[in-house]
Amino acid sequence: MIKKYFIETFGCQMNVHESEKISGMLESLDFAPATSREEAGIIVFNTCCIRDTAEQKISGNIGEVKALKRADKSRIVAVVGCMTQQKGAAEALAAKFPFVDIILGTSNLYELPAKIVELIERRARHRGKVVAVSFDEKPPIDETVPVTRTSYPNAWVNITYGCNNFCTYCIVPYVRGRERSREPEAILGEIRALLSNGYKEITLLGQNVDSYGNDRADGFGFAKLLREIAAIEGKFRLRFMTSHPKDLSEEVISVIAETPNFCKNIHLPVQAGSDRILKAMNRKYDRASYLRLVDTIRSYMPECGLTTDIMVGFPGETEEDFLDTMDLTKRVRYHNAFTFVYSPRKGTVAASMADQIPYAVKRDRITRLIALQNAITEEMSGEFVGKTYEVLAEDAPKPGKLCGRTDSGRLVNFNGDKSLVGEFLNVKITKNKASALYGEIENNG
Ligand code: SF4
Repeated sequence: MIKKYFIETFGCQMNVHESEKISGMLESLDFAPATSREEAGIIVFNTCCIRDTAEQKISGNIGEVKALKRADKSRIVAVVGCMTQQKGAAEALAAKFPFVDIILGTSNLYELPAKIVELIERRARHRGKVVAVSFDEKPPIDETVPVTRTSYPNAWVNITYGCNNFCTYCIVPYVRGRERSREPEAILGEIRALLSNGYKEITLLGQNVDSYGNDRADGFGFAKLLREIAAIEGKFRLRFMTSHPKDLSEEVISVIAETPNFCKNIHLPVQAGSDRILKAMNRKYDRASYLRLVDTIRSYMPECGLTTDIMVGFPGETEEDFLDTMDLTKRVRYHNAFTFVYSPRKGTVAASMADQIPYAVKRDRITRLIALQNAITEEMSGEFVGKTYEVLAEDAPKPGKLCGRTDSGRLVNFNGDKSLVGEFLNVKITKNKASALYGEIENNG
């Protein structure tokens, strides 16, 4: 069998980081990275089930490897992650794609090396595939998984796994289990090691970072964790995602404001601007408290880059509710918004709500919302032009071209050699084209 692997990752940053762990596990078995499915002996689909469109796309991609499997029967095809963790999904996947060899749920991901060995043994005895999907709501956190990082100069660091919030539209608590916080020392040790290995930006990951530590008896919460990270010496950037408006505290806001290494950039999903819909979504905040929170953030950090997630077409959403969302979007003036059409997820409360919104109405609303947010983003982008910002050069997408973000999270494109990736540079913004910013390095000394 070819000792090379190829991973296809779908979904959120959590999955991107989990694929780094899958790489680490496969490399511990002496597999090397491949650049295509064709040259890989093991193909892993790390899946997402947040929306129906994601699942359809993943199914299409899995179907495509059937011919590769037929051409080389020693090839291993594995499907892991959120999609497999839904009730009955593993069985359905196994029936639909009989050529898939390994199916692992979210909490079984770390068994991948053992399952590959088990599969190879079973093959010797002509005994099929390996399926492991456990429904333990609080699976233990495995701190021993090797990680092959692929995002230098940025590094992802999990602080929590799972979610307790049960927003009525969301499948995550069902496929990721209840919230578990990592030990502070494990997080701090990982961050210190990353920084001493040259990483320049750390992004803390959790479904709801603000509730970090709620499952601990000693009161060590997110603000305390941030204070410990703030005490680490050296120049680096810290970001985190995702915040929940019901849990983001003023103490956390003040630590971010007072710590130069912490980016003034908060992703604060609002989802809807109508109290009636927020209640039906079980978001546990209302429009007024959300707007107050935005005011508090801006009173501490006037330049803070605020981004959000907004969903349209939640069951029962009237035109008036939607106009409340439009109005809130105008009032907050987000730097950027990730906009979605509500997609029913089997097993969630909202999927069985009456009054599902017709697709044409959802499409009309999202078109209007995107047009509004694009106009806001473009207008705000114009405010950057002519000013100089510190940008961390993060990538060299083409020879001679670099991109990176400002402290407030805005992506800037500029000319420069790829040897500058990982450097903090002063970049003067020279123009914006719609939401994209373009600049030139100034005073690189
Ligand atoms: S906070 Fe709500 S939207 Fe976010 S993962 Fe948890 S249930 Fe889903």
